[in-house]
Amino acid sequence: MSKSKHKHGPFQGINTALAHGGSDPMEFHGFVNVPVVHASTVLFPDTETMRRRGGRYRYGLSGTPTTDALEHALDELEGSAGTILLPSGLAAVSVPLLAFLGAGDHVLIVDSVYAPTRRFADTVLPRMGVTVEYFDPLRPNGIEGLMRADTKVVFLEAPGSNTFEMMDIRAACDLAHAGGAVTMIDNTWATPLYFRPLDHGVDLSIHALTKYPGGHSDVMMGSVSANAATYARLRDTQMTLGINAAPDDVYLILRGLKTMGLRLDRHQDSALELAEWLATRPEVAKVLHPALPSFPGHDLWKSQFKGASGLFSIVLRGGGDLEAAAFLDALRLFGLGFSWGGFESLAVHCDLSDRTVAKAPAEGPVIRLQIGLEDVDDLKADLERGFAGLADLGRRSMTK
Ligand SMILES: *Cc1c(COP(=O)(O)O)cnc(C)c1O
Repeated sequence: MSKSKHKHGPFQGINTALAHGGSDPMEFHGFVNVPVVHASTVLFPDTETMRRRGGRYRYGLSGTPTTDALEHALDELEGSAGTILLPSGLAAVSVPLLAFLGAGDHVLIVDSVYAPTRRFADTVLPRMGVTVEYFDPLRPNGIEGLMRADTKVVFLEAPGSNTFEMMDIRAACDLAHAGGAVTMIDNTWATPLYFRPLDHGVDLSIHALTKYPGGHSDVMMGSVSANAATYARLRDTQMTLGINAAPDDVYLILRGLKTMGLRLDRHQDSALELAEWLATRPEVAKVLHPALPSFPGHDLWKSQFKGASGLFSIVLRGGGDLEAAAFLDALRLFGLGFSWGGFESLAVHCDLSDRTVAKAPAEGPVIRLQIGLEDVDDLKADLERGFAGLADLGRRSMTK
């Protein structure tokens, strides 16, 4: 991808990078979208080229013009030396952990981590002989005092899954690096538009591309973007394990990226408007949204992040499973479903029972909201339906 007028640098605006990133149309006869290359076999021109594995492409697994386009687009957005693609966000968590951990190693993981990440860390890693330790995201000095001689990886997620705790990412990375560990962050919530981990000292930035990059709830993929120090080992592990992303799915993510900036602006504005409104509701004890000045992690968010996406939680004032169900079952527009980052709004009752040190809020059940692209007034009316459902439950239990 050499000198052409479509090759651009880091100086441009983010929506320009999204619109033009990844591939050069002139490499594909001027077609503005990259072709979807379905491939296993790649032919070599002669035995000499084949013997030295020469040429730009060698085999379907190791990459095609389609996967290259998405990897390059993500490198531009993340400021990374190289990006690998994987068939799910969860694989984008497990593969880098497999790449940098082995028998006898210790890993520090933030306690408010995505639950399936914890499941991998609690099952596969111990079987490999890795010691797993969780730390409280709200420890006043981050991971100070927790690094051991055998700590090889520090795994972060900020804001925390479902409860949105913030931490000082640069400070944690500095301590990790001083102890010789590699740092990884699950950056799915912010996307590279709102946070660029490598600019803050993180070695590997992980994304569930399933979420905002896909944006339409119809594709699953993950990515890991690495700095120069960690990229070779990451790529080598991916190729040795034999995992890459499928071409049609890569195409859908490339298509999603074109509109991600616009969509995120909208998700951000709608979510903030609803979060502010929810904070005034008597049924809500707390709104867990980093962009609200009342949120404990607000200053940490503001000093490190450029924006807030459309996912946040509310804590109901009192009650438990019954109250959460009464609220959720009264909703008509918000769907009950996992995942997020798509065009449609979703709500889910969070199970935080897996936490070890970062405990669930004591006030009541935690409801996570994914704010989609619908009109805010319609979403507000739907949430009012939820509160009416909650009030009905209260009346029914009083007349019993
Ligand atoms: C959804 C999600 C993942 C996993 O992504 P999948 O594509 O669903 O496997 C990982 N981390 C976070 C924070 C997520 O929200």
